[in-house]
Amino acid sequence: MKVNRRHSIAALIGLAVAALLIWGIKDEERQPKQEHFHNQGKVFGTYYNIRYLASQDLEPEIQKAFTDFDNSLSLFNPHSILSAVNDNRNPVTDSAFEAMWSEAEEVYTLSGGAFDITVAPLVNYWGFGRTQSTDRSADRIQTDIDSLRKFVGFDKVELIDHHVYKAHPNVQIDAGAVAKGQACDMIASVLRAHGVEHFLIDIGGEIVTQGEREPGEPWRVGITKPNLNNEGAQQELQQVLALRNSCMATSGNYRNYYYADGERRSHTIDPRTGYPVQHSVLSATVVSSSCMRADALATACMVLGAEQALHMIDRAKDAACYLIVAQNDSLTVVQSPNWEETITK
Ligand code: ADP
Ligand code: MG
Repeated sequence: MKVNRRHSIAALIGLAVAALLIWGIKDEERQPKQEHFHNQGKVFGTYYNIRYLASQDLEPEIQKAFTDFDNSLSLFNPHSILSAVNDNRNPVTDSAFEAMWSEAEEVYTLSGGAFDITVAPLVNYWGFGRTQSTDRSADRIQTDIDSLRKFVGFDKVELIDHHVYKAHPNVQIDAGAVAKGQACDMIASVLRAHGVEHFLIDIGGEIVTQGEREPGEPWRVGITKPNLNNEGAQQELQQVLALRNSCMATSGNYRNYYYADGERRSHTIDPRTGYPVQHSVLSATVVSSSCMRADALATACMVLGAEQALHMIDRAKDAACYLIVAQNDSLTVVQSPNWEETITK
C-alpha cells in the first residue's frame, strides 16, 4: 500500500513536471521573437529616427500618429486645427492641441512671457514664417513691430470648452517651438501602447529614450558643438550623454539663422521686444518630464539668456539645462546644478 502510494506520488510529480515543461515550450512558442527595428524618414520639415525592440514593425502606427499630429498642429497643413484657428474658422480643438496649449501656457508663465506661441506675426515678419519681409530702415522696422505687437501676447487668447477665443482676428498661433517635442511624446505613447519597453525616438534632434539600447548598454545621444565659423553641417559633438529614461530637447540659434541688413538674425524672437534674440547662448539643451516641455523650455532658455534661463529652470522643478555660451572667441558651458544627477538617473 505504502509502496503504491509512493509510486503514484512520483507519477503525479512526473506528470506535473512534464506538463510544466510542455507549458513552458508552448509559452515560448506563443511569445513572438523580439527584433530591433529602425524606422526613419522625413516628417514636419525635418527627419525622424526611431529605434525600438519589438515583435513587429510599428511603422504604420507611427505614420498614423504623424498624420493625426499634422492634422492637429501643423502650420503647413491648411486643414489642420491650428490653421483653422489662425484663419478664424473656430474649429473644435482636439487632445493634442489642448496638450500643446496647456504646456505653452505653463512655460509662458514660467518664462515671464519669453516663450509665447502667439509670437507668429513676428516670426513671419522676421522671415522664418510663411511670408518673407523685405529689408527696411530701422525706423520702419520699429513702426512695423509696434503695430504687430498689438496682436502678440498669450493674454490675448483663451481656450474654453474646446474652442480658441482671440482678442483680435490677427492674433496667430505658432506651435513650432513645441511640436517636435510633442510628436516625440506621442510616438513614445504609441510604442508603449504596443508593449515596447526599449526605444529611442529622435525627431529633428528632440529625443525620448526608454530602457536600453542593448542589455546593460544605455542609449547614447550627442549634443552638437556649435561651430560659428563653419556654417555647413555641424558634426562635432560637445558631449555624449548616456540616457535611459529621458526626454531631451535642444534649441540652437547657430543652426537656424540668416543674414539681413548685415547682421545675424536668429529664428528665436523675443516677444517682449519684437526682435530676434541676440545674445551669447548658442544652444540650450533641456531634459524634463516630457519632451514637449523640454522643447518649450529649451526655446525659452534661448530667449532668456543664460542667467535668467537658470532661474527659470530652477522654478520649473522638473527640468535641467545645459547651455553652450559664446565667450570671446571660445565656448563655455553653463549647466543647471541638477544637470549631472538628472542625466545619469
Ligand atoms: P529648433 O529646435 O529648430 O531650435 P525651437 O524649438 O527653438 O526650434 O523653435 C523655434 C520656432 O519657434 C521658431 O521657428 C518659431 O516658429 C517659434 N518661436 C520663435 N520664438 C519663439 C518664442 N519666443 N516663443 C515661442 N515660439 C517661438
Ligand atoms: Mg523648442
